[in-house]
Amino acid sequence: MTKNGIAGQLLRVNLTTKKITNEQLPLEMFIDYLGGRGLGAFYLDKEVDPKIHGLSPENKLIFFNGPFSGTMVPGNNKINVAFKSPLTNTYSYSLCGGHFGPELKFAGYDGLIIEGKSEEPVYLWIDNDKVEIKSADKLWGQKIADTDHLIKEELNDQKIHVACIGPAGENQVNIACVTSDVFREFGRGGGGAVMGSKNLKAIAVRGSKDVEVADPEGLMELVAGLYPNFKKNPKAQIRRVEGTNELVRGINNAGFMCTKNFSEGTSEANKEFEGSLFREKVVYNDVSCYACPIACGKNSAIVSTKYGAVKLEGPEFETLGLLGTNCGLTNWEDVLHVSAICDALGLDSITAGGCVSLAMECFEKGILTLKDTNGLELSFGNGKAEAELLEMIAYKKGIGADLAEGPAYAAEKWGAPELAMHSKGMTFAVYDPRGAKGMALTYATSPKGAHHMVAPVFGGEMAAGNRFEEKGKETLVRNTQLNFAAVDSLGFCATCQNGFLRADQLKAFKLVTGYELTEEKMLFNAERIFNMERMYNVKNGFARKDDTLPKRFTEEPMAFGESKGQVVDLETLLDNYYAAMGWNNDGVPTEEKLQALGL
Ligand code: SF4
Repeated sequence: MTKNGIAGQLLRVNLTTKKITNEQLPLEMFIDYLGGRGLGAFYLDKEVDPKIHGLSPENKLIFFNGPFSGTMVPGNNKINVAFKSPLTNTYSYSLCGGHFGPELKFAGYDGLIIEGKSEEPVYLWIDNDKVEIKSADKLWGQKIADTDHLIKEELNDQKIHVACIGPAGENQVNIACVTSDVFREFGRGGGGAVMGSKNLKAIAVRGSKDVEVADPEGLMELVAGLYPNFKKNPKAQIRRVEGTNELVRGINNAGFMCTKNFSEGTSEANKEFEGSLFREKVVYNDVSCYACPIACGKNSAIVSTKYGAVKLEGPEFETLGLLGTNCGLTNWEDVLHVSAICDALGLDSITAGGCVSLAMECFEKGILTLKDTNGLELSFGNGKAEAELLEMIAYKKGIGADLAEGPAYAAEKWGAPELAMHSKGMTFAVYDPRGAKGMALTYATSPKGAHHMVAPVFGGEMAAGNRFEEKGKETLVRNTQLNFAAVDSLGFCATCQNGFLRADQLKAFKLVTGYELTEEKMLFNAERIFNMERMYNVKNGFARKDDTLPKRFTEEPMAFGESKGQVVDLETLLDNYYAAMGWNNDGVPTEEKLQALGL
């Protein structure tokens, strides 16, 4: 049984030696590092040399829950995995909702570190205190849903939660993800490739232990008081109906929705994907993660003459944008089809979309010819060709093998580096930074490459009516980065922030752990986490030269729409941001800053 929300145990599995050990994990670690993301940064820094290759056996997959996982704290179910990324060569982390994290907690573990490399394909079976490394001979080569199904059948338990890789991960494709419960992903940075490099096909978990909290009555009272907040909150309510695709309308109308490899920021055709039409045309029911009061997840389905029946959970807004509008798709049948392919093969749909759109622009510009593409007509809007290219990426065939290394590698090889829309090797999410200057800073300074959730400030910028201004964005981005370092570590879902304010998060921390965490200490710890992440990259030679954006965003004014004429003044943004962070002008934390943070 856990005490004060914490299981107090870290499970360590060495796939080279097959040694399995339990390590004590005191509550103090959750006070100093808050939880998943913070503990991931701590252990990665301590145990993994920043200079190793991401696919080296010396790399580790460091999974950690936050202290609330498995309790009744609403909207708290995210488990984090930290690793050295084979895609970006940086520190990387990835969060996954659903049920996998809480199930690991029910099995009695706050965290799990996978190290070494098995000689043959294996999967890990965690059944409370019984932990086994089992043969994955029958699983290797299987797609995601089949892997999940076969494991449950072999272990004769449908309630097991499985995190696994598909063919993309097995083939060590740098944009492969780790998927839990068939549709929830540890998406970005290539964690699936790291898992594949270790010959680890899956982690299956079953837990039946209670999670004891310090003050159960107090927690019940707090939670009962929170539920009406979610019902009253308009953002939470629209997400309940339209999912994350409620964002399409606002972002497309504001002219910064990725369209045709970010060559445009809006399109009439994108309106087909507005949340209300998503709900009306393809959604058939709602899905939620563990202890979720909102249920923004959507099951969708479509039957078409082109592809027959397609059924999946999603697509989420970022998947829809990158696989859909950014590749010029204009209808739901194509979008659902390519989303389902990414799910089945275990590809990070955001980066995969960025790779396909790069190839499409190269094809339209004559940089790639039909000979290069093995006859694939890779024009924007060709959903069938997109589907084929995704398969080629996952199985490393033809130009798919180039994209499997990442968009920066492929574009360089094809002689068109300026067409890869990436920062530190990772492609952008939906928001064209020309339409929200804070997002430009978020992308450029993210420790893991161009990921939006490190500081998703676009909503605040739109509400404040200052999205085209560079001035003041250093403070907005800094504060949001620190807030997300905290809430990611604690395990909160971002959508559930709508209705769960910081004061209540701090109350929950006291009621679950018994420890009074002040806002000041929480933010101090968050700043330490963010600086640890930065320093991991600095030790590997990263600096201002790597905090970049493609020339498209800094030199090519947006051609039309509500963000027309905009470019990003990145150097001004960086100067102000580094000063706000207490870093030198090269983007390196100063000695004084590190000392003040106890690093
Ligand atoms: S709001 Fe959505 S992502 Fe967040 S916990 Fe609920 S279902 Fe999961």
